[in-house]
Amino acid sequence: MQRKPPIEEEGLFSLVDIEARLLIKKKQTFKMNPFEIMSIPGKGRAMISQKSFSVGDIIFEEEAFVSCQFSWNVAYGYLACDHCMRPLETTEQNVRRLASDQSLSVPFQEHDPTKQWLDHFCVCVQCGVKYCSEDCRVDALKKYHKVACMGNFRQDDSHPINILNDTWKKMHYPPETGTILLIVRIMAMYKQSKDKAAFLETLKSFQSVFVNVEDQIVHKMLGANFESQMLELYKRFCNAFTDEEFSIFTTPDAFKSLMALIGTNSQGIATSSFAEWVKKVSDLTIPEEEKNKLESCIDDLYNKVGEFAGEFLNNEGSGLYQFQSKINHSCFPNAQSNFPYSNHIVVLKALKDIQPGEEICISYLDECQLDRSRHTRQAILKENYLFVCSCPRCLEQINDPDETSEDDDDQDLVDDDDM
Ligand SMILES: [Zn+2]
Ligand SMILES: [Zn+2]
Ligand SMILES: [Zn+2]
Repeated sequence: MQRKPPIEEEGLFSLVDIEARLLIKKKQTFKMNPFEIMSIPGKGRAMISQKSFSVGDIIFEEEAFVSCQFSWNVAYGYLACDHCMRPLETTEQNVRRLASDQSLSVPFQEHDPTKQWLDHFCVCVQCGVKYCSEDCRVDALKKYHKVACMGNFRQDDSHPINILNDTWKKMHYPPETGTILLIVRIMAMYKQSKDKAAFLETLKSFQSVFVNVEDQIVHKMLGANFESQMLELYKRFCNAFTDEEFSIFTTPDAFKSLMALIGTNSQGIATSSFAEWVKKVSDLTIPEEEKNKLESCIDDLYNKVGEFAGEFLNNEGSGLYQFQSKINHSCFPNAQSNFPYSNHIVVLKALKDIQPGEEICISYLDECQLDRSRHTRQAILKENYLFVCSCPRCLEQINDPDETSEDDDDQDLVDDDDM
């Protein structure tokens, strides 16, 4: 998720040679119906609506620029399309695996969202990664898999990419919020891209923080020993990308920028078939008695999953989104992101009526956090996203006492690994 500095940003990627090679416009403006990304002096980037939307309208749909399943998520055996992250297990298989109980059964299987694509899944014959469809296999090949395919080395622990991933995994235990494999995929995309300058410009457009906060971001991602961990990751990274072509990324500063880039911009992608099934069956019009039975069945399944796998987290991986990542936070948001297709396509919907010229904002806080006092909200945003919120709701409550709301405790405020 993007963090927004309250000050106008400059060209920030510390890959100085890239900066020199590309004539990057300082004030980038993306043009695209039905919104515009504008650089507002004193505020930074903002998504401004170009038309009016009513509650529930889709503002846009966007495929991830790059996405990747979390490293532990893969290690735990969660089967998902290697390209779009669609689950490749049925809802029942999903619940059974998460609860480690083969006897569990899921009713209303006709509402299992995976039914539509499970029959079509295919594999890369070289390395064995699975895809939900031939389309995804071809798209992956076109964008990065020619380079990224590890062939027979995929399960080889001594392969430099696997060593890098293992190093990351040991530093970043679940619940997962990011993965070094996103950077690995970006490297492969770079090598495969025909227009490298344009690719780098896109990558640079994700930069939204000052170089001097990169340390803070990396600290947030890796925790207390971040300096020694960064050094170790950096060494593993350089071992995995020895080609001259990657040399612009294998300087210490460039690597730190890449880490900060995924730390600030990557968006958790929610593709769990179980969560999607719950959404679908909860909307069914069925007799009261049956509804109650279904609800207690769902509670029971959540509890069983919770007992074994811990708190149910819907995010299976993360990705970078060119437009979605430019949306600022508001404690009174007028839009919300969803993943209704159980893949890496994000859909932005209007939560309120929006007029042309109005800024489109989402909430970086979850619903519980949004209900808290101004003081608490600001503390969470400062801690996790490194900015001070000055949304209309925060400004309106500016005279509220600086107290945490009743049900807050310190633990909720400072979650060191939450990034
Ligand atoms: Zn797919
Ligand atoms: Zn392959
Ligand atoms: Zn606010």
